Amino acid sequence: MAKYVYLFNEGKADMRALLGGKGANLAEMSNIGLPVPPGMTITTEACTAYYEQGKKLPNGLMDDVFVNLKVVEKKVGKLFGDPADPLLVSVRSGAMFSMPGMMDTILNLGLNEQTVKGLADKTDNPRFAYDAFRRFIQMFSDVVLEIPKSDFERLLEEQKHAYKVTYDQELPAEALRGLIDKYKDHVKSKLGKPFPEEPREQLSMAVEAVFRSWNNDRAIIYRNLNKISHDLGTAVNIQSMVFGNMGNDCGTGVAFTRNPSTGEKVLYGEYLTNAQGEDVVAGIRTPQPIAKLKDEMPEVFKQFVATAELLEKHYKNMQDIEFTIERGKLYMLQTRNGKRTAAAGVKIAYDLVNEGLVTKRDAILLVEPAQLDKLLHRQIDPSAKLDVIAKGLPASPGAASGKVVFDADDAEQWAKNGQKVLLVSTETTPDDIHGMVAAQGILTSRGGMTSHAAVVARGMGKPCVCGCEAIKVDFDRKEFMVGSKVIKEGDLVSIDGATGNVILGTVPMVEPTMSKEFLTFLGWADELKRLGVRANADTPEDAVKAREFGAQGIGLTRTEHMFMGQDRLPHVQAMILADGEAERRKALSFLLPMQEGDFYGILKAMEGFPVCIRLLDPPLHEFLPDMTELMVEIAEMKITGKDAAELPAKEALLKKVRTLHEFNPMLGHRGCRLGITFPEVYEMQMRAIFNAAARLTKEGYKVLPEVEIPLTIDVNEMKFFKERIDAIAAEVMAAAQVKFHYTSGTMIELPRAALLADELAEVSEFFSFGTNDLTQTTLGFSRDDAEGKFLSDYLDKKILKENPFIVIDRKGVGKLMRMAVEGGRKTKPDLLVGICGEHGGEPNSVEFCHIIGLDFVSCSPYRVPIARLAAAQAAVSTGEVLGTR
Ligand code: ADP
Ligand code: MG
Ligand code: MG
Repeated sequence: MAKYVYLFNEGKADMRALLGGKGANLAEMSNIGLPVPPGMTITTEACTAYYEQGKKLPNGLMDDVFVNLKVVEKKVGKLFGDPADPLLVSVRSGAMFSMPGMMDTILNLGLNEQTVKGLADKTDNPRFAYDAFRRFIQMFSDVVLEIPKSDFERLLEEQKHAYKVTYDQELPAEALRGLIDKYKDHVKSKLGKPFPEEPREQLSMAVEAVFRSWNNDRAIIYRNLNKISHDLGTAVNIQSMVFGNMGNDCGTGVAFTRNPSTGEKVLYGEYLTNAQGEDVVAGIRTPQPIAKLKDEMPEVFKQFVATAELLEKHYKNMQDIEFTIERGKLYMLQTRNGKRTAAAGVKIAYDLVNEGLVTKRDAILLVEPAQLDKLLHRQIDPSAKLDVIAKGLPASPGAASGKVVFDADDAEQWAKNGQKVLLVSTETTPDDIHGMVAAQGILTSRGGMTSHAAVVARGMGKPCVCGCEAIKVDFDRKEFMVGSKVIKEGDLVSIDGATGNVILGTVPMVEPTMSKEFLTFLGWADELKRLGVRANADTPEDAVKAREFGAQGIGLTRTEHMFMGQDRLPHVQAMILADGEAERRKALSFLLPMQEGDFYGILKAMEGFPVCIRLLDPPLHEFLPDMTELMVEIAEMKITGKDAAELPAKEALLKKVRTLHEFNPMLGHRGCRLGITFPEVYEMQMRAIFNAAARLTKEGYKVLPEVEIPLTIDVNEMKFFKERIDAIAAEVMAAAQVKFHYTSGTMIELPRAALLADELAEVSEFFSFGTNDLTQTTLGFSRDDAEGKFLSDYLDKKILKENPFIVIDRKGVGKLMRMAVEGGRKTKPDLLVGICGEHGGEPNSVEFCHIIGLDFVSCSPYRVPIARLAAAQAAVSTGEVLGTR
């Protein structure tokens, strides 16, 4: 039989999987000589066995417990169940990952009518003994016998009322004695049999209750939310009791070794005198700040400070400690790495390095990359009073206030007139982008965390609350309702994208500041990481932001947004509607100077760093009016006879829109296929890039344009374009009489490109993985349909572990990526390879990119710090690169 029971002195901190976090740390603290009441831990394996055997305690388990209990009895000098001087124990659950809401701890186990007398005599304190007993009955009944806690609380209240006292601890001994009888009567009436008096039986019932609690609803929900495996099981700690409720030289408390919200190095916590266990958090009495302990029990405080320091040194991390004081003596009951805010996390990591407690390598592992998000967005002043009217999903962090508008065009218009607006809609579509750009934030009544609004807003670093079902949008009346409240267009509303709150009126904001600690910390990450981190940026403003956040270049400049806007769209439409090449070239000639201006701005803002510019990617119909709308419009014109003169033009437009209509645009005429059909469109873009590069070079800027061809599947496509790229570059350089460096390459976003990467590399100087399309085409999932319809079933039924559009599917998509890296570098060992999909800013995917040997990741500017940290963590924790170089 496996060893199911470990005495505290047999365990260690790194045995968390077997002993649970609490048990492993109790063992560790015992072994470094801290005052921990002796005890033992039943392993998580015993819990697993319990379930495997159909919810039966493994044979011999309790025998083992009692054998080990003998050792504990010896250490403490008391016997379990001894009527004269009983050993009492606590029974505490403790899984590998701390799981609030699993099982409440049972204290004072081992008490019954005989032992309580012994305890009273021995301590000469009947009041204390009865208090301990009534607490035990209450906890045991709640946790093990599943009789509602509130029943006992009511009886307690009645007793306090009868004795005319406010606080529990004012009840005299005989009142508590009476209460015990009432508790027991209540148990008997509920259970149909008396409260178990036999200490051994109490103990095995409690152990089983802990095992059972592993699968209670709260625990299952918590594990699902936090992606903790349901197979781990929980450990059970059985520990001899110490008492914080024996008088005013006793107490119990919890403390962090540093302030968990700011990171400041001061003890932070609270305690209660003459109290036991959970009284501190239960809010029965207001606890004292830990600093008070210095006055009340100076000796204990000194000892506590020393212990806190020792624990920090030992664990090399900020600790969250639970302790009890019995008759002026300090006991440690728990320690673990303390949870902290993002700001505190960075400050603590920084301080620990400066205090010489940890190395930079260790320090960068102390902060969760995703948490940094919180530090990079404007936040609502935490001290402000808010009028919260509804709550949606916290889709994109940060806070925004603005006048409510219900239409993307209105948002753009109002913003042009200098108004701050909040775009409110049922949901957003790609047609709303300009309105989202113009708005301070986005609020939708439908759609989840991966809805269009949410994804785009996060990409823009713009606050967003989505799926706020409490609001009813009425587009005709331009208003929304929450309950009976009506909010009209132009009313001021704020949203908090970190909490999902929708707030009436404006709210005071605080700017995010990159503190000295934060900047230094990210600097350490840069020293340790191997991956380059670039940003996806389409405008000079984004490029500047990206540099502020530490981007080392642009990994993706999309050019399609540059084809939108009032001054351009008409020319773009003229280009699309053109009859033949000559007419198309004419339309393009209007676009050329504008594109050149775009690239000039971006290359200049990123001077000294590479800028990867992707040529036009989306299907052309995206630049034309919607087919159905157009049909309706024409039908109306025909019926009403209004604007008859415009009818032929409209009909011609409809004809063109029809011919461009595609059954599956995602797999249709888009990407470089446009450039194959209409080479002059791509040529215009190439010329615009090189003209801008030539001008900047002349002006003394160092520019590094990378011309990127999207959606290739064959080396012959690349040959077709490469010829043109080089010819136009040569022409521009000759005309301008300057030389600049440029490269050309391709996105890898279709399986065939990944499969034939060795060939594509013959005419590519770089690859960049477009993992959104690569995921769609590898899985055969269209993202919008998958996320809207069936992906949640795949996740719920555990067919897929993660949403592959958020975390790279290492097994499938990742396999293609590995192949492409290997194939490409076989042909061209110095091939530059990066990723520019949304995955490039997601920590788990960044780690994968590190492992397969990419050169860089690229993500939205706001995610750059996250990617820098994730890249450093990947380098530190995975060590050697497994890739091909
Ligand atoms: P949780 O996981 O909910 O924090 P714990 O098992 O840590 O539950 O128990 C909660 C509290 O009960 C502890 O912080 C401590 O105050 C008290 N407690 C647990 N075991 C003992 C013990 N052996 N002696 C005294 N108090 C204890
Ligand atoms: Mg605890
Ligand atoms: Mg793509």
